[in-house]
Amino acid sequence: MIFDTAIIGAGASGLLCAKLLKGSCIVLEMTNRPARKVLISGGGRCNFTNKNISSEHYYSRNEHFCKSALAQFSWQNVVELFSAAGIAHEECEGGKLFSFDARNMVDYLSSETKIAFEIEVNRIERDGEIWVIHCPKKANFCCRNLVIATGGLSLPELGVSDFGYRFAQQLNLEIEPLAPALVRLDFPKEIQKKFKELAGISLAVSLAVGTRTIRDDVLLTHYGLSGPALLAASLWWQENKPMEINWIPGIDLRKVIESNRNRKLRTLLGNFLPRRLAEIFAEDQPTALGNMNKTEENNLIHRLTKFTFIPENTAGYSRAEVTRGGVAVRFLSSKTMEVKSCPSVYFIGEVVDVTGELGGYNLHWAWASAAAAAHAINGGYF
Ligand SMILES: Cc1cc2nc3c(=O)[nH]c(=O)nc-3n(C[C@H](O)[C@H](O)[C@H](O)COP(=O)(O)OP(=O)(O)OC[C@H]3O[C@@H](n4cnc5c(N)ncnc54)[C@H](O)[C@@H]3O)c2cc1C
Repeated sequence: MIFDTAIIGAGASGLLCAKLLKGSCIVLEMTNRPARKVLISGGGRCNFTNKNISSEHYYSRNEHFCKSALAQFSWQNVVELFSAAGIAHEECEGGKLFSFDARNMVDYLSSETKIAFEIEVNRIERDGEIWVIHCPKKANFCCRNLVIATGGLSLPELGVSDFGYRFAQQLNLEIEPLAPALVRLDFPKEIQKKFKELAGISLAVSLAVGTRTIRDDVLLTHYGLSGPALLAASLWWQENKPMEINWIPGIDLRKVIESNRNRKLRTLLGNFLPRRLAEIFAEDQPTALGNMNKTEENNLIHRLTKFTFIPENTAGYSRAEVTRGGVAVRFLSSKTMEVKSCPSVYFIGEVVDVTGELGGYNLHWAWASAAAAAHAINGGYF
């Protein structure tokens, strides 16, 4: 049998694409279960989309690429899809939408879809108009349209492969550099030493990384810095580049010092920072506020508002939520995800160089890119 479409990977994007397709379709999955990352996402509750979906929440070599797919499949479309299947959701802070049960979502997505499990695709070749998917020790699968939905490299214990990237290279497409993202960062010894004593303190900061500024909580730990702000920053961080923390965002410290010359630095900082952290900053600056000269004042303001450090590394793919980078978007149609130089082949989901922030943006990209490809394959009709 020749299938209209074969989809490689039964994850979020592959399953939705299959669900929306009209013609005959087979999904080939290397593990024995569908969508394991959806099942564990959001601790089983699955933060499946966000009310603030827009291109600015995505990292990509071309920040405009994702706009068309996001416009074709909005967060309302996602909510409608799952609500129609009786899957309830709730809204949390930052517009995050959580389903109550990721298992129901996966059951719904995989129902009525032909999925062949435990087939790790390693070789695909073209035979005229037909794609032949070679399966060791099993019959080959043939199809007219090919959708690559193999995801990224994070959490290797769940079953991941680099086949999507290799197949892209086979088609002469380039891969934007891959890196673990939405992941813990590792810190040099002096930073670890500095914050060890303060482990457990959490506070809202403003964190500058590259061209981005993130306002969220930082957690001080025995290995340095952690918490949502750092996790978010890992998406935008480039190796060996610095990050900068403003520990007192929104406060004009120079003005505050000006009108508090008769107070002790430790007491003043205690108004804005957790006590133990205030003591550390005050310790480095023994002079009383009224006695500080201009240089000392500038140094203090600098340390509190532009605390600069360079993470050593990320904690790697085994700890990362996603893989940044992937199939270079200039080779794909932004409207349909089809390979420009090779019609009938589509790349969707995380394997593409579009990576979202924390908050449901990655699953939304999986849904939106899947819908764009399905729409194109169906010839314009769902
Ligand atoms: C712990 C964790 C929590 C997360 N939480 C959230 C969250 O709350 N919200 C959010 O938006 N995102 C979250 N994400 C990210 C999100 O799960 C992924 O971005 C999304 O699942 C990507 O979908 P995908 O279809 O591209 O790839 P995947 O869902 O990874 O699916 C790829 C599929 O392809 C299969 N495959 C790979 N290679 C082959 C091959 N050669 N042959 C056959 N099959 C193959 C894999 O086994 C897998 O089933 C989380 C990720 C992790 C790891």
